[in-house]
Amino acid sequence: MMAALLDEVAAAWSNARYPVVFTGAGMSTESGLPDFRSARGLWKQRPESLATMAALRRDPGEFYFFYQWRIARLWEAAPNAGHAALAALASAGFVRRLITQNVDGLHQRAGGEAVELHGTLRTVSCLGCGAGYDSRQLLPARTGWEEEYRSGRYRPGKECICPGCGGSLRPDVVLFGESLPGDAWDEAARVSRAADLFVVVGSSLAVGPANLCPEFALESGARLVIVNREATHLDGRAEWVFHDKAAGVLAAIRERIIG
Ligand SMILES: [Zn+2]
Repeated sequence: MMAALLDEVAAAWSNARYPVVFTGAGMSTESGLPDFRSARGLWKQRPESLATMAALRRDPGEFYFFYQWRIARLWEAAPNAGHAALAALASAGFVRRLITQNVDGLHQRAGGEAVELHGTLRTVSCLGCGAGYDSRQLLPARTGWEEEYRSGRYRPGKECICPGCGGSLRPDVVLFGESLPGDAWDEAARVSRAADLFVVVGSSLAVGPANLCPEFALESGARLVIVNREATHLDGRAEWVFHDKAAGVLAAIRERIIG
Protein backbone atom coordinates (compact mmCIF):
# COMPACT_ATOMS: atom_id res chain seq x y z
CA MET A 1 0.00 0.00 0.00
CA MET A 2 2.77 2.34 1.03
CA ALA A 3 4.68 1.38 -2.14
CA ALA A 4 1.61 2.08 -4.29
CA LEU A 5 1.17 5.52 -2.71
CA LEU A 6 4.85 6.29 -3.22
CA ASP A 7 4.52 5.26 -6.88
CA GLU A 8 1.56 7.63 -7.27
CA VAL A 9 3.34 10.57 -5.65
CA ALA A 10 6.50 9.95 -7.66
CA ALA A 11 4.48 9.91 -10.89
CA ALA A 12 2.65 13.13 -9.99
CA TRP A 13 5.90 14.77 -8.90
CA SER A 14 7.87 13.83 -12.00
CA ASN A 15 5.04 15.13 -14.22
CA ALA A 16 4.58 18.37 -12.26
CA ARG A 17 5.31 21.60 -14.10
CA TYR A 18 6.15 23.64 -10.98
CA PRO A 19 6.82 21.46 -7.91
CA VAL A 20 7.46 23.38 -4.68
CA VAL A 21 8.66 21.87 -1.38
CA PHE A 22 7.98 23.37 2.05
CA THR A 23 9.90 22.07 5.08
CA GLY A 24 9.72 22.42 8.87
CA ALA A 25 11.38 21.16 12.04
CA GLY A 26 10.50 17.50 11.38
CA MET A 27 12.90 17.65 8.43
CA SER A 28 15.85 17.99 10.81
CA THR A 29 15.00 15.74 13.75
CA GLU A 30 16.65 12.80 11.94
CA SER A 31 19.84 14.89 11.78
CA GLY A 32 20.00 14.64 15.55
CA LEU A 33 19.07 18.29 15.90
CA PRO A 34 17.11 18.55 19.14
CA ASP A 35 13.92 20.57 19.15
CA PHE A 36 14.81 23.50 21.41
CA ARG A 37 11.30 23.39 22.84
CA SER A 38 11.89 19.87 24.08
CA ALA A 39 15.01 20.94 26.01
CA ARG A 40 12.62 21.89 28.79
CA GLY A 41 14.17 22.45 32.16
CA LEU A 42 17.35 23.84 30.62
CA TRP A 43 15.94 27.30 29.90
CA LYS A 44 14.92 29.54 32.76
CA GLN A 45 12.32 31.25 30.56
CA ARG A 46 9.98 30.16 27.77
CA PRO A 47 11.47 30.43 24.25
CA GLU A 48 8.72 32.95 23.37
CA SER A 49 10.12 35.41 25.91
CA LEU A 50 13.81 34.44 25.42
CA ALA A 51 13.92 34.81 21.65
CA THR A 52 13.21 38.54 21.59
CA MET A 53 15.15 41.77 21.29
CA ALA A 54 13.76 42.73 24.71
CA ALA A 55 15.46 39.67 26.23
CA LEU A 56 18.78 40.57 24.56
CA ARG A 57 18.70 43.93 26.36
CA ARG A 58 17.06 42.88 29.65
CA ASP A 59 18.64 39.46 30.12
CA PRO A 60 21.66 39.08 27.80
CA GLY A 61 22.96 36.01 29.63
CA GLU A 62 19.74 34.08 29.05
CA PHE A 63 19.44 35.32 25.46
CA TYR A 64 23.01 34.52 24.44
CA PHE A 65 23.17 31.15 26.15
CA PHE A 66 19.92 30.09 24.43
CA TYR A 67 21.41 30.89 21.00
CA GLN A 68 24.91 29.62 21.77
CA TRP A 69 23.40 26.29 22.82
CA ARG A 70 21.34 26.08 19.63
CA ILE A 71 24.23 27.21 17.38
CA ALA A 72 26.56 24.62 18.95
CA ARG A 73 24.00 21.84 18.29
CA LEU A 74 23.43 23.06 14.73
CA TRP A 75 27.09 22.82 13.74
CA GLU A 76 27.32 19.34 15.33
CA ALA A 77 24.37 18.14 13.22
CA ALA A 78 24.67 16.96 9.61
CA PRO A 79 22.18 16.83 6.73
CA ASN A 80 20.24 13.55 6.58
CA ALA A 81 19.01 11.35 3.71
CA GLY A 82 15.94 13.58 3.35
CA HIS A 83 18.02 16.73 2.79
CA ALA A 84 20.18 14.78 0.32
CA ALA A 85 17.10 13.50 -1.55
CA LEU A 86 15.67 17.02 -1.93
CA ALA A 87 19.01 18.45 -3.06
CA ALA A 88 19.33 15.66 -5.66
CA LEU A 89 15.75 16.20 -6.90
CA ALA A 90 16.38 19.94 -7.15
CA SER A 91 19.60 19.56 -9.10
CA ALA A 92 17.82 17.17 -11.49
CA GLY A 93 15.16 19.84 -12.08
CA PHE A 94 12.36 18.30 -9.98
CA VAL A 95 12.11 21.09 -7.38
CA ARG A 96 11.42 24.59 -8.64
CA ARG A 97 11.74 26.18 -5.21
CA LEU A 98 12.23 24.96 -1.66
CA ILE A 99 10.74 27.05 1.16
CA THR A 100 11.86 26.31 4.71
CA GLN A 101 10.79 27.36 8.18
CA ASN A 102 14.08 25.95 9.48
CA VAL A 103 17.01 28.13 10.51
CA ASP A 104 19.59 25.31 10.60
CA GLY A 105 20.94 25.66 7.04
CA LEU A 106 20.94 21.88 6.54
CA HIS A 107 19.35 22.13 3.08
CA GLN A 108 22.23 24.33 1.97
CA ARG A 109 24.82 22.10 3.64
CA ALA A 110 23.33 19.18 1.66
CA GLY A 111 24.01 21.13 -1.54
CA GLY A 112 20.55 22.62 -2.01
CA GLU A 113 19.02 26.08 -1.87
CA ALA A 114 16.16 27.37 0.25
CA VAL A 115 13.97 30.39 0.80
CA GLU A 116 14.49 30.84 4.56
CA LEU A 117 11.25 32.25 5.97
CA HIS A 118 12.56 32.54 9.51
CA GLY A 119 16.13 33.63 8.78
CA THR A 120 19.19 31.57 9.64
CA LEU A 121 21.28 30.50 12.62
CA ARG A 122 24.31 29.99 10.39
CA THR A 123 25.20 33.68 10.61
CA VAL A 124 25.05 36.50 13.14
CA SER A 125 25.25 40.23 12.62
CA CYS A 126 26.20 43.34 14.54
CA LEU A 127 23.47 45.62 15.86
CA GLY A 128 25.94 48.51 15.70
CA CYS A 129 27.61 48.41 12.30
CA GLY A 130 25.68 45.64 10.54
CA ALA A 131 28.76 43.46 9.90
CA GLY A 132 27.95 39.79 9.36
CA TYR A 133 29.82 36.78 10.77
CA ASP A 134 29.66 32.99 10.73
CA SER A 135 27.56 32.07 13.77
CA ARG A 136 30.47 30.07 15.26
CA GLN A 137 31.87 33.52 16.07
CA LEU A 138 29.24 33.63 18.83
CA LEU A 139 30.43 30.44 20.56
CA PRO A 140 32.63 30.87 23.66
CA ALA A 141 36.24 29.80 23.06
CA ARG A 142 36.43 28.34 26.57
CA THR A 143 35.07 24.89 27.41
CA GLY A 144 32.56 24.22 30.16
CA TRP A 145 30.21 27.10 29.35
CA GLU A 146 27.14 24.87 29.25
CA GLU A 147 28.01 23.59 32.72
CA GLU A 148 28.53 27.19 33.88
CA TYR A 149 24.96 27.94 32.79
CA ARG A 150 23.53 24.96 34.61
CA SER A 151 25.29 25.97 37.81
CA GLY A 152 24.36 29.64 37.50
CA ARG A 153 27.90 30.94 36.85
CA TYR A 154 27.50 31.70 33.14
CA ARG A 155 28.06 35.26 31.84
CA PRO A 156 28.16 36.26 28.15
CA GLY A 157 31.70 37.13 27.08
CA LYS A 158 33.53 38.99 24.35
CA GLU A 159 32.28 36.46 21.77
CA CYS A 160 28.93 38.32 21.93
CA ILE A 161 30.58 41.59 20.86
CA CYS A 162 31.40 42.73 17.33
CA PRO A 163 35.21 42.63 16.82
CA GLY A 164 34.86 45.61 14.48
CA CYS A 165 32.88 48.13 16.52
CA GLY A 166 32.07 46.68 19.94
CA GLY A 167 28.34 46.47 19.21
CA SER A 168 26.18 43.54 20.30
CA LEU A 169 25.86 40.57 17.95
CA ARG A 170 22.49 38.99 17.20
CA PRO A 171 21.54 35.80 15.37
CA ASP A 172 20.11 36.36 11.88
CA VAL A 173 16.87 34.61 12.78
CA VAL A 174 13.43 36.16 12.98
CA LEU A 175 12.85 36.80 16.68
CA PHE A 176 9.41 36.74 18.26
CA GLY A 177 7.76 40.08 17.57
CA GLU A 178 9.74 40.65 14.36
CA SER A 179 8.18 40.34 10.92
CA LEU A 180 9.40 37.83 8.36
CA PRO A 181 12.08 39.09 5.94
CA GLY A 182 9.99 40.76 3.22
CA ASP A 183 11.95 39.37 0.27
CA ALA A 184 11.73 35.80 1.53
CA TRP A 185 8.02 36.08 2.28
CA ASP A 186 7.23 37.64 -1.10
CA GLU A 187 9.18 34.91 -2.88
CA ALA A 188 7.54 32.14 -0.82
CA ALA A 189 4.05 33.49 -1.51
CA ARG A 190 4.80 33.90 -5.22
CA VAL A 191 6.16 30.40 -5.78
CA SER A 192 3.42 28.85 -3.63
CA ARG A 193 0.79 30.43 -5.89
CA ALA A 194 2.70 29.23 -8.96
CA ALA A 195 2.96 25.63 -7.75
CA ASP A 196 0.99 22.82 -9.34
CA LEU A 197 2.40 20.30 -6.84
CA PHE A 198 3.11 21.43 -3.26
CA VAL A 199 4.94 19.08 -0.90
CA VAL A 200 4.90 19.75 2.86
CA VAL A 201 7.65 17.91 4.77
CA GLY A 202 8.06 17.81 8.54
CA SER A 203 5.79 20.71 9.37
CA SER A 204 2.68 20.54 11.50
CA LEU A 205 1.60 23.82 9.80
CA ALA A 206 1.01 25.42 13.18
CA VAL A 207 3.13 28.56 12.73
CA GLY A 208 1.79 31.54 10.80
CA PRO A 209 2.10 33.24 8.46
CA ALA A 210 4.37 30.52 6.99
CA ASN A 211 1.48 28.04 7.10
CA LEU A 212 -0.40 30.16 4.55
CA CYS A 213 1.94 28.90 1.80
CA PRO A 214 0.16 25.56 1.27
CA GLU A 215 -3.17 27.42 1.34
CA PHE A 216 -1.95 29.74 -1.43
CA ALA A 217 -0.98 26.66 -3.42
CA LEU A 218 -4.36 24.99 -2.88
CA GLU A 219 -6.18 28.18 -3.91
CA SER A 220 -4.23 28.06 -7.18
CA GLY A 221 -5.26 24.46 -7.76
CA ALA A 222 -2.05 22.69 -6.72
CA ARG A 223 -2.09 19.06 -5.66
CA LEU A 224 -0.94 18.76 -2.04
CA VAL A 225 1.36 16.12 -0.52
CA ILE A 226 1.95 16.08 3.25
CA VAL A 227 4.76 14.12 4.93
CA ASN A 228 4.59 14.69 8.68
CA ARG A 229 4.60 12.42 11.70
CA GLU A 230 1.51 14.06 13.18
CA ALA A 231 -1.75 15.06 11.55
CA THR A 232 -2.10 18.64 10.26
CA HIS A 233 -5.18 20.77 9.71
CA LEU A 234 -4.69 20.45 5.93
CA ASP A 235 -4.55 16.63 5.82
CA GLY A 236 -8.15 16.56 4.60
CA ARG A 237 -7.29 18.73 1.60
CA ALA A 238 -4.14 16.79 0.68
CA GLU A 239 -4.19 14.21 -2.09
CA TRP A 240 -1.45 12.15 -0.39
CA VAL A 241 -0.63 12.07 3.33
CA PHE A 242 2.25 10.16 4.92
CA HIS A 243 2.28 10.15 8.73
CA ASP A 244 5.88 9.11 8.74
CA LYS A 245 9.44 10.37 9.22
CA ALA A 246 10.70 12.61 6.44
CA ALA A 247 13.97 10.99 5.37
CA GLY A 248 12.61 7.55 4.49
CA VAL A 249 9.68 8.86 2.46
CA LEU A 250 11.83 11.39 0.57
CA ALA A 251 14.55 8.84 -0.17
CA ALA A 252 11.91 6.43 -1.54
CA ILE A 253 10.41 9.14 -3.77
CA ARG A 254 13.84 10.20 -5.01
CA GLU A 255 14.63 6.59 -5.86
CA ARG A 256 11.47 6.35 -7.96
CA ILE A 257 12.02 9.65 -9.78
CA ILE A 258 15.76 9.75 -10.47
CA GLY A 259 17.06 6.40 -9.24
ZN1 LIG B 1 29.91 46.09 14.57
